[in-house]
Amino acid sequence: AVGSKVDDVFFAGCRDPFAYTEQAGYQRQNATFVMLTRNNELKDVLATMRSLERHFNQWFMYPYVFLNEDPFTEEFQERVRDATAADVSFGLVEESDWEFPRDVRQSAEFKEYIADQGDRGIMYGNMESYHKMCRFYSGTFFKHPLVARNRWYWRIEPDVEFFCDITYDPFYEMEIRNKKYAFTVLIRELYWTVPNLFRQTRSFVREHGIKVGHPLWRVFVDERKQHEPEPLENIDPRDRLAALISRATNPLPIEEDKFDNEEYNLCHFWTNFEIARVDIFNSRIYQAYFEHLENSGGFWTERWGDAPVHSLGLALSLKIEDIHYFRDIGYQHSTLAHCPANRAGAQLPYVTNPEHARIFASKSSRSASIFRRFTRFRSPETEYGVG
Ligand code: GDP
Ligand code: MN
Repeated sequence: AVGSKVDDVFFAGCRDPFAYTEQAGYQRQNATFVMLTRNNELKDVLATMRSLERHFNQWFMYPYVFLNEDPFTEEFQERVRDATAADVSFGLVEESDWEFPRDVRQSAEFKEYIADQGDRGIMYGNMESYHKMCRFYSGTFFKHPLVARNRWYWRIEPDVEFFCDITYDPFYEMEIRNKKYAFTVLIRELYWTVPNLFRQTRSFVREHGIKVGHPLWRVFVDERKQHEPEPLENIDPRDRLAALISRATNPLPIEEDKFDNEEYNLCHFWTNFEIARVDIFNSRIYQAYFEHLENSGGFWTERWGDAPVHSLGLALSLKIEDIHYFRDIGYQHSTLAHCPANRAGAQLPYVTNPEHARIFASKSSRSASIFRRFTRFRSPETEYGVG
């Protein structure tokens, strides 16, 4: 079946988490949640933890790592510790991993570029801190000692909601299936945040003689001029991921010299949710890729997000078989959500929380506004492949 390698759910429906952890062979993994956040986001941090604890971690008790370039206050640490029975660590992000290189920071150009992005209305473009955050997640978070000591991490953010009970251990299931990176949402990037990212990626590919054109690369890069595929807008939103994966797994034959005609299609893993192995970022290719991007200045002359950077960097260094799509994890952050019940032809057993099952079963009355939040992502502008 097309895309089955990335697409299969590990389990359909609910399992008994206690029986699950007692099954022969089950091994708790060397894994942690990771959240970069600030003291003033405490309320939203606790909301995320409440949801995660209720729907997953009360059974699995994986530890949390909180990172910040400013020390966390006593109050923050206390309230967070009170929100879970699992271990919690608080880490400081070092200046060299957080700040732009000194010569960049001290140049007048730096401030000008940031201000100009604000003037041009680029989302978050005028926020120096947002640029630092994107650079941090692109190239340095995995080096932090509290992260680096783990084999696996699960990235979380303030103000996240998980809708369905996750009654198995995603780390363990990924481990035994040789998966390395997992997502819940694929979305299109705002073009003006990354106008030169693919040009730089292209020059990196050339300099290092990296072989491209394989299925994972094809998820993110189209060969536009030669074979214009059916515009995604013409495809039923629920079928878009399947279409992308189908294109990726049945790529048109590409000759070496066609590479110049390729373009980034702006599709990326929405990285505020990630479950992945820490060491994928320590590969020679990913490291060199980040260094190339850093040297190009794009983390401040433009507002490259860590999401397109992870997506393209991993497309250079992983195989499509390494990727897992957690279609069975109900996830919402800000205005975007992934709901398993929206999968084309999905049966309600994917939604394991009775309260939410009821919401998805009926579009009526009091649930209507919540339902709309879940259906909004089907619009062509926002979402590629959540269905
Ligand atoms: P959005 O989801 O793209 O709107 O971006 P967010 O504002 O949620 O930022 C992404 C993540 O980085 C969240 O976990 C934030 O708490 C965190 N973050 C963003 N900026 C900073 C910052 O300046 N310092 C710290 N410590 N965390 C930040
Ligand atoms: Mn966020």
